[in-house]
Amino acid sequence: MLLEKSAIKTKRDFENIIVGGGIAGTAAAYFLAKSGCEIALCEQFDLNTQASGRNAGSLHGQIQFEAFHQMGMEWAKSFLPALKFMADSLDIWGSLSAELETDLEVFRNGGLMVAETKQEMDLLAEKVRLEQTLGIAAELLDGNQLREKAPYISEKMLGAAFSPIEGKANPLLAAPAFAAAAKKHGAKIFTGVTVHSIVKDGDIYRLTTSDGEFTCKKIILTSNAGLATLGKNFGLTLPITDEPVQVSVSEIIEPLVKHLVYFSGEKLTFKQAKSGSLLIGGGWPARFNSEGIPVFNPDSLRSNMRVAVKVVPSIAPVRIIRTWIGVGNGTPDQRPIIGEVPGYKGAYIGMFPYMGLSAGPLLGKVLAALVNGEQVDRDLQPFDISRFN
Ligand SMILES: Cc1cc2nc3c(=O)[nH]c(=O)nc-3n(C[C@H](O)[C@H](O)[C@H](O)COP(=O)(O)OP(=O)(O)OC[C@H]3O[C@@H](n4cnc5c(N)ncnc54)[C@H](O)[C@@H]3O)c2cc1C
Repeated sequence: MLLEKSAIKTKRDFENIIVGGGIAGTAAAYFLAKSGCEIALCEQFDLNTQASGRNAGSLHGQIQFEAFHQMGMEWAKSFLPALKFMADSLDIWGSLSAELETDLEVFRNGGLMVAETKQEMDLLAEKVRLEQTLGIAAELLDGNQLREKAPYISEKMLGAAFSPIEGKANPLLAAPAFAAAAKKHGAKIFTGVTVHSIVKDGDIYRLTTSDGEFTCKKIILTSNAGLATLGKNFGLTLPITDEPVQVSVSEIIEPLVKHLVYFSGEKLTFKQAKSGSLLIGGGWPARFNSEGIPVFNPDSLRSNMRVAVKVVPSIAPVRIIRTWIGVGNGTPDQRPIIGEVPGYKGAYIGMFPYMGLSAGPLLGKVLAALVNGEQVDRDLQPFDISRFN
């Protein structure tokens, strides 16, 4: 993405500035620019180089089993507004390629969370019942139904939770497509510009950046891992966690895996990309080197592959060609942070933890509505910033 040097020299005062060029920031830029707003986006590196460009491309629409298992039913109930948010965002994904005029390789064949034990099946049944209370399409499959739908799954699996709304997209394409469409609608995108500090000065916000001062009337923070630091400018202490995890890609094989596959016994997400490669992840941790930098963890790779082969035995001979690391960002309750910063009119935060690719398009749309002073079609109270402050 080109650094718009001429634009930097000629204009630094904007109505609205977004900080962060991942899926959330570029989606917000697109919806704001499309609605006729003057918008600039500042990204410290290049677009889509952090979580949004390093994730596994799963489009999630069910409660994740590990969190459900560890935190239980009360937590799961508190997560329902976030689940509804993701499910509604998946609807946007369904028509996003057409809207952005780019093939984002979106497939929505559904997701299977497979179980190996009776105890896992019982928990999946509870989870499905809860999801159904939201009106989200989810069903429990027994072993026969599972094998009919997905013959490639191991015969040892007793059944699965099936979410027909889930699928996958290509994360390398989505944020750049949002940014390109935003530019077509007049948005200015500044890459290589780090926002160091933000100060409210009367009705405007003054941003001190690595490229001089920018000003705006409204500021939208979609800086994800960078939110904890930028939040301090607003007196906020945001408990955002950083977890480096690994994803692996295989050589290209014949079409085999039609669904997004998870395993309720151990960490796994598994799918086949449009190219034919298998994408295998699920949150296995990278390790830190002596300088504290996350690097490849061979033990995690071995464990990840062991689980993948357990669930889909026929992939045992398939070769992995690359493993990469991305830093996933979370919140303690796994709910997003969305809304206006208390006491700072015109300053907004948008961050969706762990599954922010899935939620990104709707997050962008909601942020645009907030900035435009429009009615948002859902209660944002569960996502309120002040729950942490
Ligand atoms: C390995 C991995 C796998 C994942 N798998 C999935 C998945 O399959 N499905 C799914 O839905 N989600 C997945 N996620 C989560 C998802 O990738 C993130 O939730 C989502 O990308 C967050 O998007 P974002 O735009 O908020 O943040 P980011 O993509 O992190 O973008 C924030 C941007 O802000 C910039 N920034 C920060 N501070 C500043 C500053 N001071 N000045 C200027 N710019 C700044 C950063 O450089 C960055 O580009 C995964 C994450 C990881 C790491």
